[in-house]
Amino acid sequence: MRDTTKHQGLRNQLANVLQAKGITDENVLNAVRKIPRHLFIDSSFVDHAYQDKAFPIAANQTISHPYTVAFQSEVLAVKPGEKVLEIGTGSGYQTAVLLELKAQVYTIERQHELFKKTSLFLPKIGYRPKRFIFGDGYKGLPEQAPFDKIIVTAGAPYVPNPLLAQLKIGGKLLIPVGDGEQVMTLFIRKSAKEFEKHELGDFRFVPMLEEKN
Ligand code: SAH
Repeated sequence: MRDTTKHQGLRNQLANVLQAKGITDENVLNAVRKIPRHLFIDSSFVDHAYQDKAFPIAANQTISHPYTVAFQSEVLAVKPGEKVLEIGTGSGYQTAVLLELKAQVYTIERQHELFKKTSLFLPKIGYRPKRFIFGDGYKGLPEQAPFDKIIVTAGAPYVPNPLLAQLKIGGKLLIPVGDGEQVMTLFIRKSAKEFEKHELGDFRFVPMLEEKN
């Protein structure tokens, strides 16, 4: 499938919608204007690709709402060159946003079907994380720790300790916490033992599940 001026127009409109909903970070809005979201979803949903909606992708998972992706990206405040761990690669759309923000991205997916699909697809359209990992995000990625930022894109019933432990001092973990509905929760590591916690509103994600599949 191609990327046309029509798609570009729809993306610009989507960025306006996100702005109206409160997103202000120009780098995030520019990423939304640039990334061809219609290529990330099943062809039957292409007409909806640039509405602020979540959609089914493979393996019973969903691509997050553009607003959710933009919100999480804005809160993380990624700076160029930062080392970012993403839990829940899914379609790779959030991964692409992080790469547009010039992060060094390590991304973990527990569903093999999605891992395979997205690790082939993203490089094809020019997005290259440092690593795609087929694994369980509850464990983080100790061999690459510490990270400047960790973002979880599935609803976690509790906050996994390994993720807090793998943050740099000054680093941020952004994680939706809860069953069913989640509270978007930001942890900022103040020292080896101290974390500051901020609750940033309700969201709804597919569940973060243990082990690989
Ligand atoms: N950012 C993605 C969101 C996909 S939905 C996008 O916008 O497309 C959440 C993803 O998290 C799903 O692909 C799901 O399989 C994955 N996931 C759930 N639990 C996980 C875990 N423990 N480790 C890694 N990935 C997980």
